[in-house]
Amino acid sequence: MQYFTQQLFADADNPYADARYVIYGVPYDGTVSYMPGTRLGPRAIRDVSYNFESYLPDFDLDLLDVPVADLGDIEPFSLPDDVVEQVELAVHEFHRDGKLPIMIGGEHSVTPGAVKVLKPACYLVCDAHLDLRDEYGGTSDSHACATRRVMDCGVEDVYIIGARSGTKEEYELAKDLHLYSAEDVRRLGIDKVIDEIRTSVGDRSLYLSVDADGIDCCLTPGLGTPEPFGLTPLDVRDVVRAFAPAAVGFDYVEVCPNDSGQTAAVAARIIRDFIAAHWCSEHPGL
Ligand code: MN
Ligand code: MN
Repeated sequence: MQYFTQQLFADADNPYADARYVIYGVPYDGTVSYMPGTRLGPRAIRDVSYNFESYLPDFDLDLLDVPVADLGDIEPFSLPDDVVEQVELAVHEFHRDGKLPIMIGGEHSVTPGAVKVLKPACYLVCDAHLDLRDEYGGTSDSHACATRRVMDCGVEDVYIIGARSGTKEEYELAKDLHLYSAEDVRRLGIDKVIDEIRTSVGDRSLYLSVDADGIDCCLTPGLGTPEPFGLTPLDVRDVVRAFAPAAVGFDYVEVCPNDSGQTAAVAARIIRDFIAAHWCSEHPGL
């Protein structure tokens, strides 16, 4: 697979051979349903990553000591099913080589490609949308179908945090899943939600996906499909810190950098937190 990029994610310039974590971008927004521009997400997230110190005080960890390789971006094809296949091919290589894949989107439609290869027992997503449509805009690989396609991959349990948008049919389907709406999170508090999900997941593996619009659009407005009354950046950060140790793969998608940079900044910071939380769990003596 060939990768292209202008600038790598900060502190992620280790050689592939040495890397435990592999970052790759998928600058694709071909099935966009409202505002275009998530194809510019990977670049914006990488750019703002240079704003942050490599030392993360909450983990007492310097990211320069963690083997992370940013390979750059996949050059996506035009059709969504082809892009899903590109992601499958890429993740297959990373998985075979013992790397943990971290995808920067781009839109949510490609997540199922990674899940299909990694075969986690559980799928945990922060998202304003249920993404449970079977088809949207003439394709079953729309970003509005992401969670539905993940279900096709045979995961045992699906956890959705922050949802507040979907059709009546999607909400019917969601009754068989573990749904914590944004309102549930407001009522219960994110710690209680994390505790419940942690108990349910147990020691099973999971794939962790963050759709940027899970966060309230009044806080991070750089979104292709903005929804108010959502999660806070701290809610999502806490979810990622809690479940990174169990994760076999991670992605942060749907950043559409048409704001003042706050949405990409939250994304870059949470990606760094994911790496730190996972690395520290694998190296408890640090
Ligand atoms: Mn989504
Ligand atoms: Mn969404």
